[in-house]
Amino acid sequence: MDRSKLYRRFRTLLIANRSEIACRVIRTARAMGLRTVAVYSEADRDAMHVALADEAVLLGPSRARDSYLNVERLIEAARKTGAEAVHPGYGFLSENAEFAQACLDAGLVFVGPTAEMMTAMGSKSGSKALMEKAGVPLVPGYHGEAQDDATLAKAADKIGFPILVKASAGGGGRGMRIVRSAAELAPAIVSAKREAKAAFGDDRMLIEKYVDNPRHIEVQIIGDSHGNLLSLFERECTLQRRHQKVIEEAPSPSLNAAQRETVCAAARKAAGAVNYVGAGTIEFVSDGKDVFFIEMNTRLQVEHPVTELITGVDLVEWQLRVAFGEALPLKQDEIKLHGHAVEARVYAENPTKNFMPSVGRISTWRLPAEETGGLRIDAGYSEGDTVSPYYDAMLAKMIAWAPTREVAIDRLNRGLEDSDVRGIVTNIPFLSALITHPKVRANAIDTGFIERELAALTSTSAAPGELEFCAAVAAIVNDERRAAQGAASSPLNSPWHTFGWQPVGRRQRSFAFRVGHGVGHGAGHGPEQKITLNYGSGPSTLVIGERELAFTIAPKEGGFDLTLDGVKSFVAAVIDGHELYLRTRNGRFDLHWVDPFGGETEEQTGADKIAAPLPGTVVAVLAEEGAKLDKGAPILTLEVMKMEQTLRAPYAGVLKSIKCKVGDIVQEGIELAVVEPSGE
Ligand code: ADP
Ligand code: ADP
Ligand code: MG
Repeated sequence: MDRSKLYRRFRTLLIANRSEIACRVIRTARAMGLRTVAVYSEADRDAMHVALADEAVLLGPSRARDSYLNVERLIEAARKTGAEAVHPGYGFLSENAEFAQACLDAGLVFVGPTAEMMTAMGSKSGSKALMEKAGVPLVPGYHGEAQDDATLAKAADKIGFPILVKASAGGGGRGMRIVRSAAELAPAIVSAKREAKAAFGDDRMLIEKYVDNPRHIEVQIIGDSHGNLLSLFERECTLQRRHQKVIEEAPSPSLNAAQRETVCAAARKAAGAVNYVGAGTIEFVSDGKDVFFIEMNTRLQVEHPVTELITGVDLVEWQLRVAFGEALPLKQDEIKLHGHAVEARVYAENPTKNFMPSVGRISTWRLPAEETGGLRIDAGYSEGDTVSPYYDAMLAKMIAWAPTREVAIDRLNRGLEDSDVRGIVTNIPFLSALITHPKVRANAIDTGFIERELAALTSTSAAPGELEFCAAVAAIVNDERRAAQGAASSPLNSPWHTFGWQPVGRRQRSFAFRVGHGVGHGAGHGPEQKITLNYGSGPSTLVIGERELAFTIAPKEGGFDLTLDGVKSFVAAVIDGHELYLRTRNGRFDLHWVDPFGGETEEQTGADKIAAPLPGTVVAVLAEEGAKLDKGAPILTLEVMKMEQTLRAPYAGVLKSIKCKVGDIVQEGIELAVVEPSGE
């Protein structure tokens, strides 16, 4: 095929994606003078990428298959807006050969490889067969066509347990199961197939030897349509949870210069085997000695910014130039490695609740400014946005660069510590605990590290002390003062607002706090901490227990400087009704301000109810009505934000009724089953 037909100059680019990657592509495209077109679903009407683009087209309903995965609507959107090219981002249709072909057939430039290259490399099985021929080292395994149970069982036996069952079309760690014995094989295949069918519409499986405690190392490559192919060093992505990367860095701290050249050369060989055009990643697992090819991703990767920061290359710019039909601007020996970069993926999820995705409105979104401290932030959300249950829960990426790995980690940690996101639960404190863990600093890690250290990484922060309780009162005072000032400047101001802060004589006010926030209208837990504020004429003081402490407050962006007992420190504070969220020099604290007028009732926690924790789809019913259940016995499986969640019996009992069936779309809080306790 004549490549000038595939790759040529264009002026208008449609970005067939959402969130941070859509925003990131739009920024570079605009900097190159292109016109940009965003696409969106009903849930994303007010999303950042829609606001950022020059034009935007509604694709359809919120579900991905009705919008971001709808090829016809995407092509139609390009036609309507006069777009001449399509950038697929990552995820969604980025590795879908039919989509690449559909773009070509519609006369559009697809920013990426050809459909043929994608077909060859996109399936894990196919690419492994190719790599075997090209002499690239592979993990031993079965990647044949035959998919019957007997063939797979025989292959597993031959490879030897433990093995990994993997969806050939897989991505994002989904459709993958570790199997440690022959007995576990059949159920693992059934469940991996179901997940793969739902996620990728393709349930073909391959089997690989499970490399124990491996590292994940990958190489960024890019090729142009003139036969040039470059590697841009490697990234290490060993910190993973459920086979999904959490922290990525470049270069890999595990390789010396010779090993670096070996793995980069292997990657160039792999991509060279299909004369690859576009940006791509060759992924390897390493047993500490050798590296083995596992897959190629024929697209830009989530973690590409770490490569950009150590090479100074804008990979999206290069993708677009390759799509224009230009030759790559540098030669291999002109690509230099400079410093170290580390990226953390910020997700809307709760690490203390098995990383359950969190949805809702982002009431506070404060991330440090990028100019400070070598940080780059690629975000897809901002304050006031809603995180919907329809898509991936990644909100943003925070990336730090420094001359050394140590300093890059410190900068990233500082950036995470200085971030406040409220309204939804995020993994920010978890990320901070992770990158400052001594073993991570020492690079003594493998892909199982997070799972093993989970308890330590998610343990709640220190108990609040004197500083935090005083800061809580100060936060309320600061908030009321600000409100009073706001009111004073408005024509409708009431004298009550300002009066409170300039009173005559000495006054007293009592506060009480409990630690933690409840669910819904719950009210924290543990004993109440009482604290008295003395104010009015003379300096304000706080009385906590036996101590009386002088304090002053100086408002600042995002909080205030609190001088307490002669020491000044910054306190970040968010007040949401009676819930206080504070960040002091000791860490993050959630406090509940006990309503001074009483009337707070402890709500039933509902822990015994078998209810949907978030909106989702019932994908399997695992127990029958009337069945006797042990405590913890699985009852049904829900798919929530692309992740399967099994709901289990809260106590031993009898399954009285199942109130849903496979395929039902259920709302949050809906009771799905009733278990009658067996009464012991
Ligand atoms: P992999 O882990 O498959 O090698 P990446 O680490 O680059 O690849 O992650 C790609 C994953 O990102 C997809 O499989 C998908 O789960 C998720 N994803 C897709 N689109 C988006 C998006 N717009 N925003 C955030 N995450 C996305
Ligand atoms: P995905 O398309 O979901 O990214 P990969 O094949 O890249 O699938 O695997 C994802 C992760 O699973 C890898 O980064 C690695 O941590 C782990 N993994 C994959 N293959 C193996 C293997 N053979 N042995 C051990 N771990 C593996
Ligand atoms: Mg992968």
